[in-house]
This record gives sequence, C-alpha cells and structure tokens, in this order.
Amino acid sequence: MSQAKEVRVPDIGDFDAVEIIEVLVGPGDTVEAESSLITLESDKATMEVPAPFDGQIESVTVSVGDKVAEGDVIAMAVPADGAAGAEADDAGGGADSGAAAPAETASETPAAASEPAPAAAPAATAANQAAPDSPDCDVLVVGAGPGGYSAAFRAADLGLNTIMVERYPSLGGVCLNVGCIPSKALLHAAKVIDDAAFFADNGIEFGEPKIDLKKLESWKSSVVGKLTGGLVGLAKQRNVETVHGPAQFVDDYHVKVDTADGERSISYRNVIIAAGSRPIAPPGFDLDHPRVMDSTDALKLEEVPKRMLVVGGGIIGLEMASVYHALGSEITVVELADRLMAGADPDIVKPFRKIIDKRYANIFLNTKVTALRPDDDGVSVEFEGGKAPAEDRFDRVLVSVGRRPNTDRLNLEATSLELMDNGCIPADDQMRTRVDHIFAIGDLIGQPMLAHKAVHEGKVAAEVAAGEKSAFDARVIPSVAYTDPEVAWVGVTQEQAKAEGMDVEVGSFPWAANGRSLSLGRDEGITKLIFERDTERVVGAGIVGPNAGDLIAEVGLAIEMGADMHDIGLTIHPHPTISETVGMAAEAAAGTLTDLYIPKKKR
Ligand SMILES: Cc1cc2nc3c(=O)[nH]c(=O)nc-3n(C[C@H](O)[C@H](O)[C@H](O)COP(=O)(O)OP(=O)(O)OC[C@H]3O[C@@H](n4cnc5c(N)ncnc54)[C@H](O)[C@@H]3O)c2cc1C
Repeated sequence: MSQAKEVRVPDIGDFDAVEIIEVLVGPGDTVEAESSLITLESDKATMEVPAPFDGQIESVTVSVGDKVAEGDVIAMAVPADGAAGAEADDAGGGADSGAAAPAETASETPAAASEPAPAAAPAATAANQAAPDSPDCDVLVVGAGPGGYSAAFRAADLGLNTIMVERYPSLGGVCLNVGCIPSKALLHAAKVIDDAAFFADNGIEFGEPKIDLKKLESWKSSVVGKLTGGLVGLAKQRNVETVHGPAQFVDDYHVKVDTADGERSISYRNVIIAAGSRPIAPPGFDLDHPRVMDSTDALKLEEVPKRMLVVGGGIIGLEMASVYHALGSEITVVELADRLMAGADPDIVKPFRKIIDKRYANIFLNTKVTALRPDDDGVSVEFEGGKAPAEDRFDRVLVSVGRRPNTDRLNLEATSLELMDNGCIPADDQMRTRVDHIFAIGDLIGQPMLAHKAVHEGKVAAEVAAGEKSAFDARVIPSVAYTDPEVAWVGVTQEQAKAEGMDVEVGSFPWAANGRSLSLGRDEGITKLIFERDTERVVGAGIVGPNAGDLIAEVGLAIEMGADMHDIGLTIHPHPTISETVGMAAEAAAGTLTDLYIPKKKR
C-alpha cells in the first residue's frame, strides 16, 4: 500500500477559488518541509503553497490554470522517514500545516484597525551567538527608507548611538527616490495639464502643452534631491553615522557591509531591519526589456509611448496611468480582478472610474495577461478573459502587480530569524521579531506597504530599543490613490462592515452640493462616513474627489479619538472648503444637515 499522504491547500485567508499559476514540482521530486509546491495568484496576492513535510512527491493532482480553495488536494507525497510527524497529520488541510500567507501586493488594502500584527514565534535562543561586550553601536538600522531613517533619527534623539546602513548612495528608500515623492511630482504635472485643458473650454486658453520630458524629469529629480539631501543633513545633525553599501547578516549581532572602501563589520546591541520591498512580475514577464517597465522605470520618463498598457489596476498602476495619459499616451488598463482599487468601496471608486472610462482607450477587468512578447518596435500582449481581444500590441507595458519584501537579500539565514511563507519577517506590536534585540519594520513585515505605516513602526522600534514601553497601536492606517480624482479610504469599508456583520449607518455628502468643489470645476466627489450604529462613533470613511487624500486625515484623527457623528458634525469647518463635506456627511447621518434635503429616516 502506498504510504503517500494527501497534500492540501492550507488556510489561504479569504480566498475561495484561486488560480494556480505555477506548479513547481513533479512526480519523483524530493521536497523539504516549507519548500514551495505550487504558486497561486488571486486578484490581490501571489501565494506559495509549501510542502508540509520532508518527502517525495508521488503525484501532482492539479495543473496550471486550475482553481483551488482551502482543503483541496494538490499532490500525494510520501513523507521521508520520521518527517511526517504532526505536520503530516495536519497535511489534510489543517490550518497549521504551514499556511500560505498572501505575498505582497502594492499597498491596496488598508489594514483593519484591529488587525493584529503577525504573531511572533517564541523567542529564539541564539546560544552560539553571544552579544558583543562593546558593540559598535546601540542601534544599527538596515535600510534608509521612511521606516529606516525615522527609526534611526528617533533612536538618536533618545540618546542611542546609531548607525544607519543604506545600500544606495541616496537616502530615503523607495518612497523618496522611486515611489511616493517622484510619482506625486509627476501627478502634479499631470494635474496642471488637465486643469489647463479644462479651462480651454471655460474661458482661458493656454494652447496645446509642449512637453519637454528632460526638463520635467529634471524638475522631478530636483524635488527628490531636496528631500534626500535634507535627510543627509538631518542624519548629520543627530550624529547618526551613515554607511553606504549592502548589509549582510553574519549572525544575530553582526552585519558586514560591502562599502566603497572595502568590507566593514558592524556589531550592535539592537538592529532594526528596514530593508523594504521591490516590484514583482508574473512569471515570464521580462522586466529587463526596455519596453516592459516596472514603476521605477516608468518614473524615469524615458519617452511618452503612443499606446501604453498598464498591467494591474491597483494604486501604483493607476497613478502612473494618470501621469502618462496626461503626457499624451493612449492608456489601456488590464486587471485580473473584477474591479479597480479592490481595497476601497465600489461606490467610492465609481466616480473615478467614470472619468477614466472617458479618458482611457480600454479598461479590461477579469482579464489576465497570458503572454508579453517585447521586441524592438513594441510589445505583443496576449489576453485571456473579460472583454479583451486575444492579442494586441503596445509601445510600452507597465507591470504593476505587487511588491515583495527584500528579505532574501540580507543573508538572514545566518540569524535566528524565521520568515513567513510570503517572505516577510513576523514582528509583534513592539516591532520585535522572535529574537529580542532584532526589530523589523516597514514593507518587509507586510501589508499595508505604505510609507506612513513604516514611519510609525520605525519610531516604535527605536523607542522600544531605548527601553520605552511603546507599541504600534494605530486603530487605522489610511490609503490614498493620488489619481484624478483622488480616492481615499480609512478604517472599515461598507463592504467589510457587511461581511463582518457590523451594524453600521452611513452618512454621505455629494460634492455637487459643495460650493468650493464646484468652483474647482468638479462635481463628481463623494464623502462617505461610516458609523457604528449603537455608539454613533465613526469607524471608517471613503472619499473621492480632488484632494481626498488630504481630507481623509481628519477622519483618521476622528477614529483615533473615538469621535462620533455629533463631534464631527458640530466641529466648525471653514467655508468654503471641501472639508465641509466631512462635517456635512456626519450631519447627514445625525439628521441635522440643511444643505441637502434628506427625508427623515426612522432612527
Ligand atoms: C511608485 C510608488 C508610489 C508609491 N506611493 C506611495 C504613496 O503615495 N504613499 C505611501 O504611503 N506609499 C507609497 N508607496 C509605497 C512606499 O514607497 C513604501 O511603502 C515605503 O517606501 C516603505 O518604506 P520602508 O522604509 O519599509 O522601505 P523602503 O522605502 O523600500 O526602503 C528600504 C531601504 O532599504 C535599503 N536596503 C535594502 N536592502 C538593503 C541591504 N541589504 N543593505 C542596506 N540597505 C538595504 C533599500 O535600498 C532602501 O533604500 C509607493 C511605492 C511606489 C513603488
């Protein structure tokens, strides 16, 4: 009788029919526990299903393209001697059999207020790695992105001797160099072009824009340079030593850094790992080809392609689509899921969608790109599903389907750390890993991959390293798409509230009734606040319209302060501003709104 055991899909979160995009093993292959067997791809994430035990694959019962859910059998495998143990028993779909956590996507989903940090495993004993008697620093920070530099500066402010290592010459990480800041600079340029076009029909004509890509790129770089240069000054003022070069762990207490002056070993009392993330591409997509871009390439503004395909309908892809559309590209967006910006409520995304429906050539939902074939003149793209043609050709393709943590570039195997299946480092709410003096923050500990989350985590890590009783206990983390119009959300969405059986009520205010919005020539905006019915406290919000990203901050504060609909409605908002829509959405829920007529609800 075969001793083979069934290998099933473990708990993969809220996914119930996820497509297999890769089968990594075949009959006869020897596998180690936790090695990847198949890769799944949902609209939100790429996940690997790991082997639950050491053993040999007898047969694989699924193929690429199949859809699977938790508990489905994917293979039969014979456990190696003594390897089956508890895991083998759990292999029958047990949630503990090495659950495949979602891999990283591009910051689409805001973390729910109460979402716990991933559980840290019990503290490891690094018996063979004694703490150095007089380490080079109290705190070593690896990575100088928003998480890393905030951690380093806070640690220094708390009196800790701090060294920060950054592999690139420029400080600021993805956010300042190839993320938040350059993209927002270009989005502002796009807005200027769009505003000028709007006024051409309304009394002021500037003529067709003449775009000098080199000048625009150099202006964008100057914005970046001001900020990254500012960080150099801030590090100096605080006596934070900055070492440039990639850091590799040697053990739990040392890294070596390959600097321009040779290898340098640095020992530390505490280390804060803040090495961030990088873009991923589906298998077979050649990101090295000049016509196939990731977000970093797209921000270089090498040319304005005539026809551009954006693969991925998340925030980053849609922001870059806004930029290139304004510069003159004909845009097609393709998205695997049935909607754009999956983290936000559909009614908040709808006004944005209506506008881009008019601007873009095509938006293909429920559609998969099955092949990208770049050549010297363009890129041939094959589509599957939705309303897309079987094949089309574009001048350039931007691939924006998610990001993965940089944990594979740090030689973490030399430490006592263990990674989650998605490659992230588990950290608790004090940002500690399973090793007490090793902290991890920012993108490399998981979603949401946002700069403002990284900054707050960095400060907590530094404070805990300094002996303070700090913890990351933010109720909510806002998400913003800086598209035109902006789409912003915070806390619980209406969809989430429904799924979780929360009893909520909604107050909504259309910007068509807001004087300031109309004076900007815009009337599509909506401000929606979500309140817990019994306490009347605000628990979430979704806002769409110009500057929605700035407005959402007020609701974030209201949620943190436990404000209810009356607190917000009775707060005097300046007139005429779009911020009034927040007050009026609260008044709509409280039944005190006079700027619109809303028939009385029975409360
Ligand atoms: C196009 C784009 C737009 C974005 N827009 C926004 C936005 O508007 N708002 C927002 O909140 N977020 C945005 N993000 C996400 C944001 O950039 C990240 O969430 C944020 O940068 C994460 O900060 P971090 O400190 O964790 O890591 P990072 O910013 O990735 O910094 C990590 C640093 O570590 C360094 N490093 C890596 N490995 C090593 C090593 N071995 N040794 C030494 N150094 C190392 C890297 O070089 C890097 O400088 C955007 C991202 C992109 C790509």
